[in-house]
Amino acid sequence: MKDPIATARAAAAGLDRGSLIDRDRAGTFDRSGWIAVAEAGLTGLGTEYGLAADPPTIARLLAAFGEECHDNGLSLALNAHLWGCVGPLMRFGTERQKAMYGARLCGGSAIGALAATEPDAGSDLSTLSTRAERRDDGYVLNGRKLYVTNAPLADVVIVLAALDPERGPLGAAMFVVERGTPGLDTPEATETMGFRTARVGEVVLNDCRVSAGALLGAEGAGLAIFAHAMEQERRFIMAFAVGAMQRQLDACVRRARARRQFGRAIGDFQQISGKLVDMQLRLETARGLLHRAAEAGGRRSQRAALAAMAKYAISEAWVRNCEDAIQIHGGAGYAVQAGIERELRDAIGSRLFSGTSELQRETMARTLMLG
Ligand SMILES: Cc1cc2nc3c(=O)[nH]c(=O)nc-3n(C[C@H](O)[C@H](O)[C@H](O)COP(=O)(O)OP(=O)(O)OC[C@H]3O[C@@H](n4cnc5c(N)ncnc54)[C@H](O)[C@@H]3O)c2cc1C
Repeated sequence: MKDPIATARAAAAGLDRGSLIDRDRAGTFDRSGWIAVAEAGLTGLGTEYGLAADPPTIARLLAAFGEECHDNGLSLALNAHLWGCVGPLMRFGTERQKAMYGARLCGGSAIGALAATEPDAGSDLSTLSTRAERRDDGYVLNGRKLYVTNAPLADVVIVLAALDPERGPLGAAMFVVERGTPGLDTPEATETMGFRTARVGEVVLNDCRVSAGALLGAEGAGLAIFAHAMEQERRFIMAFAVGAMQRQLDACVRRARARRQFGRAIGDFQQISGKLVDMQLRLETARGLLHRAAEAGGRRSQRAALAAMAKYAISEAWVRNCEDAIQIHGGAGYAVQAGIERELRDAIGSRLFSGTSELQRETMARTLMLG
């Protein structure tokens, strides 16, 4: 059997890096890169249809992928597909749903998305405006979702909607909606600060009629399924950034050795070598938390807290390391060509998706207080 980590690394190493600056500027998704990632089994990672790996291996594998893949947008697209769509479908889907979508999604010929965020419901999804109404033998969906990763590309969108709003959080449901379903629209991508090669956009549902078979899990289980998906996502979604931080630290060390000012390598100045040390400490702390979250068993609240800790610590470390990387590179770090300013723009976005940094801290605080 092939080594899954080596497979992921090799797939990422083969991606086209030369066009990245232009694609970032234009906001272009790397379709051929996606196909290469799919052929390596990554679009079905951890499922019967994709690259087999246990959770600790998944974390290592995605970090190795992120180290070689300079296109963080592609990494985000892959993670949104895996944890937002493939994960909940394979865990909570009926045999029929898995037969309909599983092989296509896991094989990468279909791209998945999860549509939860709304204009008036972001961190707090207990007051959804998107409605699902029971009609005839199925449901009719109406509403608008924002900032959905992969929305403009997605073949399958999992939609969170309020079915029995008077039941509050217990009245939500999830639906699997296929592109082409009348009433489902994914308008142009939203222009974003970072992750510009991922396509983030709206999902609009206008009298979108789906069959009873589109319900994912049970009526009323929407937020529980969402919470499960987010916990899984937070365990792994920042693994690629741990790889990206390693790549960045290596580049900074090379620069600190090679760049000479005042007749010495800039790494000889303690203010520069100190930054390298800070970067390494943040990276290794982030890596340690990634592995702890990936390996976590035990009580649900403790697992959730570790996942929140990993997600929070890695995204914050990534932002800080990007700032130091620019400083170490001086003006060259501020120039687009070096790719570090792009990394910073991407890193800032990671503080927001999958629950903001503030919400991760809330989860950690609650676990501390309640035990
Ligand atoms: C790159 C990217 C990709 C994304 N992908 C997806 C996707 O695939 N699917 C999807 O559905 N959504 C996606 N999102 C949306 C993301 O999940 C939301 O932006 C996020 O949940 C925050 O919601 P909001 O933007 O409405 O901010 P708000 O909830 O309005 O928050 C605004 C500010 O208030 C703070 N805040 C809110 N409540 C509290 C609290 N209780 N305590 C302390 N502070 C609080 C927040 O931390 C934040 O700083 C994505 C976002 C980004 C940037």
